[in-house]
Amino acid sequence: MKIAVIGTGYVGLVAGACFSDFGNDVTCCDIDENKISMLKNGEIPIYEPGLEPIVHRNVEAGRLHFTTDVYQGVKGAKVVFMAVGTPMGEDGRANLTYLKQAAKMVAEGIDGFTVIVDKSTVPVGTADMLRDYMSDFTSHEVVVASNPEFLKEGDAVNDFMKPERVIIGTTDERARKLLHELYKPFVRSRDRIIDMDARSAELTKYAANAMLATRISFMNEIARFCEMVGADVELVRKGVGSDSRIGPKFLYPGIGYGGSCFPKDVSALILQGKDAGYDFQVVRATQQVNADQKKVLVDKVKARFGDDLSGRTIGVLGLAFKPNTDDIREAPAHVIVEGLLAAGATVKAYDPVAMDNFKSQHPENDRLSYVGDMYEAATDADALLLCTEWHEFQRPDFARLREIMAGNVLLDGRNVWNTTEVAELGFDYEGIGRKTPVARS
Ligand code: NAD
Repeated sequence: MKIAVIGTGYVGLVAGACFSDFGNDVTCCDIDENKISMLKNGEIPIYEPGLEPIVHRNVEAGRLHFTTDVYQGVKGAKVVFMAVGTPMGEDGRANLTYLKQAAKMVAEGIDGFTVIVDKSTVPVGTADMLRDYMSDFTSHEVVVASNPEFLKEGDAVNDFMKPERVIIGTTDERARKLLHELYKPFVRSRDRIIDMDARSAELTKYAANAMLATRISFMNEIARFCEMVGADVELVRKGVGSDSRIGPKFLYPGIGYGGSCFPKDVSALILQGKDAGYDFQVVRATQQVNADQKKVLVDKVKARFGDDLSGRTIGVLGLAFKPNTDDIREAPAHVIVEGLLAAGATVKAYDPVAMDNFKSQHPENDRLSYVGDMYEAATDADALLLCTEWHEFQRPDFARLREIMAGNVLLDGRNVWNTTEVAELGFDYEGIGRKTPVARS
């Protein structure tokens, strides 16, 4: 089937590459010339494990094309996926500017009946809005369906190839049939397609993200309470997660959720509620707890050294919002690095893949430097902070860290380090809501 994908970012590139891998003829369009020229040269503009060979194989087979020309890209396409960004606008609502720009170009480019499929996360009612909006720019019939995307960055290819479910939101039989045909190879082992109307599909995506964000904020509150009453959140987490009605996932306490989805989707849902006259109280609390949680590591540093961190050197491990991605959108590391610098500290930061992205927003200066590995970040540091649980940070040579650091403070924002091991080496260790053995003096 000839399809076009508009927006070649994390979602669009993965979707386009995976659809082409099942024999479809896919044109990925993006207005970012740099991105498209990289892709045409065989380079992958994002870090996503497993994506590169799929892209290369399908480009070589002549099934996957890249263009900046949306008008040409959609010609002859039966289905056009919209995968442009819908970032948080200044008012906290989803910013639909890119979507509308793209929809106008698509409408002007199509040459017959076309099924437009919204993969971007968009407020309830957007499919209906887009259908009316696009009809101003084309004489061809369009159907707009919702097909929210649930892939996880870092495991996106796997998630797309073996989805837990595919939500198809349309009441138009022609669109439904085409989308079932397209997704059939991805759901061969059992039927994972859930049909519904577009509004329900749009809300499913927000409800899922808000639920996951709420679990995280809830456990972060439990972790804070653990610190006050001498309980260990890691034990509480295991106990709670073993209940099959609850399950173990998304119960990990930490330094707050980030990324390109949870923060903006939580905010957009609250404001969709407000616009409709509904107050999402639980979701508002989730958002507030998260904002506070992003500050906990800086608070823990200040609890040791005082509010004025002038003359202190702090090593920061991990800048991406989670491991296996170079995505730094809304990462807790922003709040942490900014908080440390504002208090006068000198910061040495390291991340295996996200440093260039982070550097573009926080340029190096005389108190902020980016270094080549975790040991360089630790050298002469008074404290070392773990912000992202990349594999390479999980089993460091603690004895070496102890020797090269100026101080002995280890703050583990992801609860991955062995508390006994670090205490035995004389570190002043603190995780999030964990019981901490007293350091050997
Ligand atoms: P992204 O920023 O990585 O990519 C969006 C791309 O759209 C950019 O390359 C941009 O240049 C392009 N674009 C903008 N306007 C355009 C236009 N008029 N024509 C063509 N291209 C245009 O975004 P993303 O992370 O892939 O997210 C896309 C959507 O999918 C968002 O709504 C997001 O909420 C949703 N989503 C993202 C994820 C994720 O993990 N990243 C998961 C599920 C859903």
